[in-house]
Amino acid sequence: MKKNNLLLVLVLLFFVFQAKANTVSVRILTTKIINTLIFSPIGGSYSVYGDGVLLENCDPTGIFQMSMEGDFILLKTFEREIGKFGVIKMIAKAPSAAFKVKSVIPQGKVRTYDDNLEIMLTQDKSQLLLINKVDLEHYISGVVESEGGRGSNLEYYKIQAILVRTYLLAHLNRHILEGFEVCDDVHCQAYSNKASDNNILKAVLASKGIVVVDNNLNLITAAFHSNCGGETCNSQDVWAMSTTYLKSVKDTFCLSQSQAHWQRVIPLEDWQAYIQLKHKYPVDDSMNFIRGTSFSQAAGREIYFKDKDLKIPLKSIRSDFKLKSTYFSIEQVGNSIKFKGRGYGHGVGLCQEGAMRMAKLKYSYEYILHYYYKDVNLVDVSALNYFRQE
Ligand SMILES: [Zn+2]
Ligand SMILES: [Zn+2]
Repeated sequence: MKKNNLLLVLVLLFFVFQAKANTVSVRILTTKIINTLIFSPIGGSYSVYGDGVLLENCDPTGIFQMSMEGDFILLKTFEREIGKFGVIKMIAKAPSAAFKVKSVIPQGKVRTYDDNLEIMLTQDKSQLLLINKVDLEHYISGVVESEGGRGSNLEYYKIQAILVRTYLLAHLNRHILEGFEVCDDVHCQAYSNKASDNNILKAVLASKGIVVVDNNLNLITAAFHSNCGGETCNSQDVWAMSTTYLKSVKDTFCLSQSQAHWQRVIPLEDWQAYIQLKHKYPVDDSMNFIRGTSFSQAAGREIYFKDKDLKIPLKSIRSDFKLKSTYFSIEQVGNSIKFKGRGYGHGVGLCQEGAMRMAKLKYSYEYILHYYYKDVNLVDVSALNYFRQE
């Protein structure tokens, strides 16, 4: 679709369709095996439901304990037992309500979350299953803070929020057979608390509903990495996945940042053994000249390490020697091989340190996203939902 037509349709839809209040169901404390849990509100009141029946109201000072008992969950306060249920729901009475939970068996830290909590047993009945039914934008702010930490620039947080939202909407079916949409582990996206950083909350609000799509209106694979070293990679050169938007771009913004340069020295004999044994390459010719010890990417990123008839994918060398990137040169220094490298990570998509630097230099989030992702559109998700139903 031509960009102008796309924009026209999206502008029209913007007026026709209101953004729906969207929620997402997130399994929390996924990696813990929980038997007993304490719940208490930290703002606002909650209604407590057991198997669909309103049991009582929980004011902001209320505390409830839930523990596994056979195939049911025993619900009680400190004073009394309320009953045994299959599903317990803590439903917030106001949009600003939040709660804290603490695992008692086993002992765990206090965690805070926005909105609603549902508690049931896992399908194999071996542990409690906790599902946070949370407003989509609340979830996004929690992920931005859990994954990126606090104290960054507002404009940079808008980028993170848009990428978290884009990733979420592309992966909503991941756990659907288990009864929720996403988990709170890095398997989906890390989500360990409600957000408290003001810049994060502002950035999520300012970018509300925005996602990144390609020219066919498909949500993009929002790849990112720490530092590209001056040039990002084409996705097909790293993952054998060709896209219209993950294209190599030159980037000078990250060159003064902390992950821009690295070095690694290994014994010459290790390198020789590697190319000789693993890649069947003779390292000495009849003149006793050592081969395979010089390589440069000064003119730009390469895909292969090459020396005469030897050709090894740089990503294999990176993985075999656990190097920070594939953007390195090789030189022999005495009895050692020195890797002189640039950047950190796979190099595909957005360069985080470059984007952070651009945000500090007052580039807008739109400009930065278009800089790292080629030929993409930033659209409101409510318009996208409409297209999807066609
Ligand atoms: Zn997951
Ligand atoms: Zn970069």
